[in-house]
Amino acid sequence: MRSRPLVIACSAVIAGLGAATISPVEAAAAPRIDEARHEQALDILRKSIGFRTVKDGGQTPAYAQYLKDVFVSAGFAAEDVRIEPVGTTAIMIARYRGTDSAKKPIVINGHMDVVEAHAQDWERDPFTAVVEKGYVFGRGSVDNKFDVSMVTATLAHLKHSGWKPGRDVVLALSGDEETEMMSTRKLAQELKGAELVLNADAGGGLLSEENQPIIYGIQAAEKVYADFTLTVTDAGGHSSRPGKANAIYQLARALERLERYEFPAMQNEITRAYFEASAKNVAPELADAMKRFVANPTDAKAIETLSADREYVGQVRTTCVATMIQGGHAENALPQRATANVNCRIFPGTPIASVQRTLATVIADPGVNVAQAGSSSVEGEPSPLRPDVIAAVTQAVHASYPKVQLVPNMSAGATDSMHFRALGIPSYGVSGLFMKPSDDFTHGLNERVPVAAIDVSLTHWDTLLRALAR
Ligand SMILES: [Zn+2]
Repeated sequence: MRSRPLVIACSAVIAGLGAATISPVEAAAAPRIDEARHEQALDILRKSIGFRTVKDGGQTPAYAQYLKDVFVSAGFAAEDVRIEPVGTTAIMIARYRGTDSAKKPIVINGHMDVVEAHAQDWERDPFTAVVEKGYVFGRGSVDNKFDVSMVTATLAHLKHSGWKPGRDVVLALSGDEETEMMSTRKLAQELKGAELVLNADAGGGLLSEENQPIIYGIQAAEKVYADFTLTVTDAGGHSSRPGKANAIYQLARALERLERYEFPAMQNEITRAYFEASAKNVAPELADAMKRFVANPTDAKAIETLSADREYVGQVRTTCVATMIQGGHAENALPQRATANVNCRIFPGTPIASVQRTLATVIADPGVNVAQAGSSSVEGEPSPLRPDVIAAVTQAVHASYPKVQLVPNMSAGATDSMHFRALGIPSYGVSGLFMKPSDDFTHGLNERVPVAAIDVSLTHWDTLLRALAR
């Protein structure tokens, strides 16, 4: 349903946490959110789902206008909430003025667009929010209208209650995160003077099937996505007269070499912290490998153990894998052309061009052309694990779930954050959503969010902003 193969952003909340092996820590404390605030947040979420903000659906500007109305009703000056069209979609920038305009603003980032949903395939209309069985159903109920609505409700509440941040807090919403990200580029350019970005569309907490908190992931880095096309061409001919040259065999040999190759193991601050934290929660053999890899980045045995596990291989190295092949044009003709798509998830800091050179070197056949294909994500460095950010996020998480461990992570996906990181602005995925894997229907049918997640998220954003926006 995605218009191009650019990685799932949001369900990466859970990916890479190795959740299955971790046991819950303790029962949830009840967040203290009064009924009126809960109802207002739920109302914003329900109305948000009602806007069909799919690609070319044309309703994103109207959705932005609705959110603007919420802010203005709460006491924001109309000129502090700016909506700008970008093609058929829009961006919205809402500025919550702080006491010191000389300080760099904190940006909260989210997206207004959603992945397409076809009503005939859903049990309920995807663009009419339905509250049933303790869930809010609807397209975007999780991705990303949940956090966008909770942040909006929180900022409106804070404004209404007279709270003043020490610096400006800017809510920056993109309108095509799921597709082209043109609006994200614009946002990042306009806000490149920011102190840091809190991305509401990444990171988040994991619940057990019994709704007990397990872990909280804070996304501080992401791998770079790139596709390459391998192409072999040949004069071809009649299949009754085969010779030495055959484009399909030649391509197959190239793919075999690629299959045997492993990119070098790498580490960064985020993956080290990730393995250190994860080692407390996995089976002894894996835990041992994680600890040894952190202590010694060239420990071959540890690298082998981690690389053999699909859950962790992506945290250890750049990976490139064949995902599609095409070749030949008739059953009775020698192939004139054979191509393969190789999909790479590149360790941040490694240029896409250097991966392309490595592929060509590994394939070691000038007859195989290696070209970058399609859209790639933009290159950016991991964001440093700033103590002030970690402390504030920990406080926010612990406000609802005391003792839950924070695990920094490097996601495989491309979120809006990459455009900010590319400009040198640290960006942290800090969604306020805790959910269980069995509730995750992001991008799929019958997307839903637990109503119980609302108060936790309101507590999360309120605590986080008070702690960080000084
Ligand atoms: Zn998203």
